[in-house]
Amino acid sequence: MAATPCPCESGKPYADCCAPLIAGTRPAPDAEALMRSRYTAFTLRDEAYLLATWHPSTRPAALDLAAEPVPKWIGLQVRRRERTGPDSAEVEFVARYRVGGRAHRLHETSRFLREDGAWRYVDGTLHES
Ligand SMILES: [Zn+2]
Repeated sequence: MAATPCPCESGKPYADCCAPLIAGTRPAPDAEALMRSRYTAFTLRDEAYLLATWHPSTRPAALDLAAEPVPKWIGLQVRRRERTGPDSAEVEFVARYRVGGRAHRLHETSRFLREDGAWRYVDGTLHES
């Protein structure tokens, strides 16, 4: 049986990529890995993981992931990753999703901070693309 590919399109099996991060059995080794696991959590609508990996300074109280229309996430491409300090990083990515019959792109540069060994999402800037 072939291993399930990871939704983050890393090319690795899900079990060796985002699954242990989302399960909490392995910390994200870097900001890109955290970003990928958060994308995968969006595909799984895993609100608890998304909130847990959000920096407390910007974390919303809740995410309404089931709000209609629910986007179907269909692809991720990481364009750039940059360490901006010892405990800060940026990751630029394009995520593709479908709402109804239409395909959309989310092109964002996300900022991440590491505290107590854990990378967390802070905020992002959207790009026109
Ligand atoms: Zn993955």
